[in-house]
Order: sequence, then C-alpha cells, then structure tokens
Amino acid sequence: MSSLSATIQDVFNEPGCGKNANKSEAERKKGCTKQLQPGGAAGGCAFDGAKIALQPLTDVAHLIHGPIACEGNSWDNRGAKSSGSNIWRTGFTTDINETDVVFGGEKRLFKAIREIIEKYDPPAVFVYQTCVPAMIGDDINAVCKAAKEKFGKPVIPVNSPGFVGPKNLGNKLAGEALLEHVIGTEEPEYTTPYDLNIIGEYNLAGELWQVKPLLDELGIRIFSSISGDGRYKEVAYSHRAKAAMMVCSKAMINVARKMEERYGIPFFEGSFYGIEDSSDSLREIARLLIERGAPEELMTRTEAVIAREEAKAWAAIASYKPRFKGKKVLLITGGVKSWSVVAALQEAGLELVGTSVKKSTKEDKERIKELMGQDAHMIDDMTPREMYKMLKDAKADIMLSGGRSQFIALKASMPWLDINQERHHAYMGYVGMVKLVEEIDKALYNPIWEQVRKAAPWEVAGTNWQAVAMAQMDAEAAALAADPVAAEAARRAKKICNCKSVDLGTIEDAVAAHRLIDVEGVRTHTNASGGCGACSERIDDILASVAMTAVPALQAAE
Ligand code: SF4
Repeated sequence: MSSLSATIQDVFNEPGCGKNANKSEAERKKGCTKQLQPGGAAGGCAFDGAKIALQPLTDVAHLIHGPIACEGNSWDNRGAKSSGSNIWRTGFTTDINETDVVFGGEKRLFKAIREIIEKYDPPAVFVYQTCVPAMIGDDINAVCKAAKEKFGKPVIPVNSPGFVGPKNLGNKLAGEALLEHVIGTEEPEYTTPYDLNIIGEYNLAGELWQVKPLLDELGIRIFSSISGDGRYKEVAYSHRAKAAMMVCSKAMINVARKMEERYGIPFFEGSFYGIEDSSDSLREIARLLIERGAPEELMTRTEAVIAREEAKAWAAIASYKPRFKGKKVLLITGGVKSWSVVAALQEAGLELVGTSVKKSTKEDKERIKELMGQDAHMIDDMTPREMYKMLKDAKADIMLSGGRSQFIALKASMPWLDINQERHHAYMGYVGMVKLVEEIDKALYNPIWEQVRKAAPWEVAGTNWQAVAMAQMDAEAAALAADPVAAEAARRAKKICNCKSVDLGTIEDAVAAHRLIDVEGVRTHTNASGGCGACSERIDDILASVAMTAVPALQAAE
C-alpha cells in the first residue's frame, strides 16, 4: 500500500468522526467518499480542501505543484486575514506543461522550491500535490526531503491530489501533513498554564480577532492557531499547549484527537457563533486549563467577563427590536451551526420561518426544536426551485445564506446576507453577533428593494417571469393536491440517499417489510447511507416516522 493510500485509510478510520462511528468495519474501510464521477470535485477537490485548511498559515510559502489552473482556481478564494506576513497570499505554482508530463516534473518542482527560498526566505515551504503530477508519478515526498536537506529549511509535502476525494478529505489530509511533518518539530521559548491551541479556525474576515481580546484579558494565550492567522513556528511547537478548542470538527478532528493521544492535550468542540455558545466555549476553555494546572480563580474571572459581555451584547441587540418587529428570516447556513444564531436572532425580535439542518446533528435538531418549537420548519435538502417557492410562500423578509444560494434570494427580490466563508464581515463572539444584527438591519432597510420589486414600465401585470414561474409551481401543486395517487408517488420519489440514489419509498418499504429499526438495517437492505453517510440523519427521521405510524396500526390490529 502506498503511503498516500495508507494515510487515506487512516483518515477514513478516524474514530472521532461521528459519521464513521455509525458505520460497520467493512464500510469504514470503503471510506467516506462515493466513487468520484466527472464533475464530482465541483464543490472542491481534496487538493482544494487541503489548501483551504493550511493556507491561513500566513508566513508560509504555499507552492502548488501542478497545472496553473489548480492554483488559479483556488487562489485567495476564502476571506482569511493575516496580522503579519502576506506571503501566504502570493500564488506559487510550478505550472507544469506537456513536456513535464512526458519527462516528469520533479526537477521543475525542486527548482521552484529553490527560487522561493532564495527570493522570499519563508520559515517553511508547503508543497501541494495535484492530480496531474500524481498521475505521472512525481514523488513530492522525495523532492521535499531532498530540498529540506539541501536548503536546511522545512519543506512540507501535502499529499492530497484532487482525485482522491472531496474537500473534507483534503482538510484531513492537510492535518495529517501537519501531524507527520510539522507538529512536535520545534520547542517554544517558554510555556504557561494558559496555553491554548485553536484548531480548525480560519480567521475568516478576521473573526478570530473578535474573540482574542477576551482571551488576552483573561490571560489565556493562543499558543497555536491551526490555521487562521497562524505561524509555522507556532504550529511546530503546538504539542506543548495545555488544552485545545476544536472549532470545526469536520475539518480537523484527526489533528485534535491525535494530539490528545500523542501529547495528552485535551480538547473540546466549541463554537464562537452566537452569544450563548461564546459563553459556553469560554467556560469550557477555562475548565480545561484549570484541569491542566491553571489556578481556580480563572473560572471566576471568566464568569465575570461572560456576564459583562453578554449584558453588552444583549443591550446592543435589544435596540434593533423595534425595527425588526414582524420581520421574518430564512436561515440557510453552510458550516455555521444554525442554532448558534437562531437564539440571538430571536432575541433581536426576528421571526425564523425556516432553517437549514443539512449539516446538523440530531442534538442540533433537538436544540432548534427547543428554540423554534416542535413545528420548526427544518430544511434538509432543497432544490433551488423549492427554495424560491418557499421564500415567496413564507414571505420571509430576508435570507441569510452562503453565496451559492444568493441568486435565489435575489431572483425573489429579497434582501440577502452572506454568512458563509466568503463573507466580508466577521460574526464571531459577542461583538460579532451584534455586527450580524447590524448587517441584517442594513440589508433589510436598503432602499434598493423597493425599487427592484416595482414592475418595469413596459410590463403587463402578471406576465413577468416571476409571476409565470409562481403560477406554474402553483398549478403543479394544485394538480398534485387533486390527485392523491400522483401526490403519493411524488412523495415516495423524493431522493434520500444521493450517493446510492435511493428514494423515500424504497426505504419506507424496506423498513416495513423487514421491521428495520436502525440505519445499519436500512443500509443492508437498500444500500442507502452506503456512501458519504450524510443521509443517516434523514433515515433516522424516516425510521422514527414509520415507527410512529406503525404503533397505532399494530394497536388497532390487536
Ligand atoms: S487537484 Fe485535480 S481536481 Fe483539484 S483543481 Fe487540480 S486538477 Fe482539478
């Protein structure tokens, strides 16, 4: 087994991954990824994922070994910020061509590393493998080793060519590169009982700086940030931290877990989105540091800071209440946990008409129900057309989402606010939540919306494309309502597992026929959840609803 295959297998077996924990031994070996098909890397390939995870290390030169498009497409496409060096934003690529494909690109790579070291002298060069050099057999590990010996500088191979899988896998392979070549290779000048690693945080729009002043005030040192606004040396000595907070579990759970295993650094998964979550995370940081030797009084000081900041944040948000009276929000988040912001939006007086739960866990969903009521409109997977109709029907006043769904909101002539990774505003911590509320207010009351909703002077009422589309959708809905057989067929045809193309009807039939009670059973009989595992929560919901309808039926039969 090549070392890349071995690393991928190791990442697939990650015990800290919730989805992995639900799989059988055989399925874990098959991996988290479905067989890639043309276009499968459209949402980001493994190389892209590795680069997203490591590029925020700001003093490192990131060299992409491959055709220029790999670097061109991934360059600077996230909003991470640096408080120091800017070399991380310089696009370095070997730009391999047809001749390299025939004769190999290793010499070209070695020359590129030398040029970077001579011109820029960074503390380290990270070399990213991409599809073409991986397929022609360029051995970046060997080249990096030779360059490190020749130039006396860390040259780190990041072996994550795009074809091995999706972006999430690339995040973890990037973590493996740090674990293998960087973490534990240097020693800090000194340590304190207040040294904290932050893992899986990328300082998007500079949001880590919204939390750092609070940590500074408490005397807690961000010992190493992996990787937002991070420095190479800090990562190299991060094994001496006392505790760690893991901000995004999907991205770097392997780093946090293996650092705990190898160096005894305890970690917790937390979030700085939302007021309550920020407070919980600060408390948990204090608790872990106290466990590792920090004085008990740290908790008292932490509680004092939490009380002060919460009071300030709630007071600032309260002033928007009169302006938000009766306003409705549709929340479609990507990575940010929906419920992290639901509570604060409600506190500001906004009404939530729906929230996405595609990436939410069962606990997240329970929390949303607690906040929004048992009838909360939770959106699992929606086509753009369905989303458009929902925006119109629910008569939401604003949509909060990522850039990909912005055009649906704009087509519906509705205010929209970016809350995903490309955003330009920082929403972390207490000040971040206040900023979010401010931005919602600005978007809601922007006078442009009144203008774009007006019919054009040449338009005949009811004939514009929006009216036609809505009429078409209403007609389809009415046709289904009038034909219960067709409605049932449409309901059963809803795709539940996209990887294995399994629909709702097939799962319901299998559950009823074989009296299935868990996802494992459904997988055995239908193959659903046999790919990436993202639908396991949906299958759980189906199992629960079939069980609820089956019990009265059984009781009636008895
Ligand atoms: S690494 Fe492969 S999949 Fe990713 S951008 Fe480059 S060629 Fe495309």
